Amino acid sequence: MKDILPQDAPYWNAVRMAVDDLARGTGFQRIEPPILEAASLFTRSVGQETDIVDKEMYTFIDKGGDKVALRPELTAAIARAYLEHGMLSWPQPVKLFYLGPFFRHDRPQAGRYRQFWQFGFEVLGDGHPVIDAQLIYDGVTLYRTFNVPVIVHINSIGDAACRPGYLKQLTEYFRSRRHSLCEDCKKRLLKNPLRIFDCKVPDCHLVAQDAPQIVDHLCEPCKDHFVRVLEYLGELDVPYTLNPRIVRGLDYYTRTAFEFVEEGTDDGPAQTALGGGGRYDGLIEQLGGPDTPACGWAAGVERMLLAAGDRPVAAPLVDLYLAVDGGEAARLRAFRIGAEARRAGLAAQAELAGRSLKGQLKQASRLSARYVAIVDDTGQVRLKDMDAAEQQDIADIDVVAQVLRGRGLR
Ligand code: AMP
Repeated sequence: MKDILPQDAPYWNAVRMAVDDLARGTGFQRIEPPILEAASLFTRSVGQETDIVDKEMYTFIDKGGDKVALRPELTAAIARAYLEHGMLSWPQPVKLFYLGPFFRHDRPQAGRYRQFWQFGFEVLGDGHPVIDAQLIYDGVTLYRTFNVPVIVHINSIGDAACRPGYLKQLTEYFRSRRHSLCEDCKKRLLKNPLRIFDCKVPDCHLVAQDAPQIVDHLCEPCKDHFVRVLEYLGELDVPYTLNPRIVRGLDYYTRTAFEFVEEGTDDGPAQTALGGGGRYDGLIEQLGGPDTPACGWAAGVERMLLAAGDRPVAAPLVDLYLAVDGGEAARLRAFRIGAEARRAGLAAQAELAGRSLKGQLKQASRLSARYVAIVDDTGQVRLKDMDAAEQQDIADIDVVAQVLRGRGLR
């Protein structure tokens, strides 16, 4: 677990703003479920045998004797909220998004934390393939705004009609090569052989490469759905590749499963996705509701920032830094100009603590201030445009207008 420090905050704000902008542009509404849920919610839906529930979930008994869990993911909680708050009777589909902290007792390594942040977009109550394609397109667009080109790795994992037959064949295949599998995969073979595809051990990866693929075993409705998703993606020129290994580790997925993988890092067993999702048409029924289709995706904030490097933050943090080079009268003027600037929507800071002019200018540069105004006892202001390396002497009353013009805001 780690602190997000002030120097990281601009990057985090950039993600928040991009997620909010995407949601506004595509009609998603924010949902903020609690961080603690009944542990049974995740064991029932995500699956007792999955790594995130079995090995990584933080659970404890609270003072009332209830077994609770720090949320390891949100789709299950969103499905719970959908049922609990009667969203079934809202106009469908219900489109929800979130951004918040998640917890998994994962093995810590670069880009992997025990408290990490995810944002996600979920569409509930619509089974049309255009929904899958739209969600995938939105994800690709979001990564593009951070200059992170991604390839969509996509697969269909079928549904209750076609998956059981495929799983039988898959089990037979892996059983015949049992000796080459790691201990974990031997267990997976008994409980859910699909998860062997998720294994990063090179030998298991090799065995999985030649395994029967579910796309060859899809029933007609699943095949039709998949083909149409791909058609819609093609229509929007979304870069995708068919990847039979994308099975998503969780029990509730049906049909479309996908991951966003950074271009250039998209092959080999060590491939780590920036985000992913899929269709979960069975989840709401599994939680006691009626048969309701749904689809969504989630992405990790830390991993997105790691891929984006310094690129997300272009704008300076401070529009105007007011330095005082004089007595009390100059200080009062700087104080007033600072307030006027903030009323006009600018980020303005005034140095009022009596630091030397040299110290103040150093601080302005540390803050990457776009403009620095030096207020002295002459009654004028020396306004420095730090980008253009120009300066001019102007009256107090003109400072805010000049900075707004320079920032392209007026
Ligand atoms: P998942 O819910 O496992 O599909 O994860 C979705 C995304 O969340 C991943 O692609 C990562 O970007 C991110 N993520 C998952 N687990 C962690 C973790 N332990 N630390 C940081 N990011 C994570």
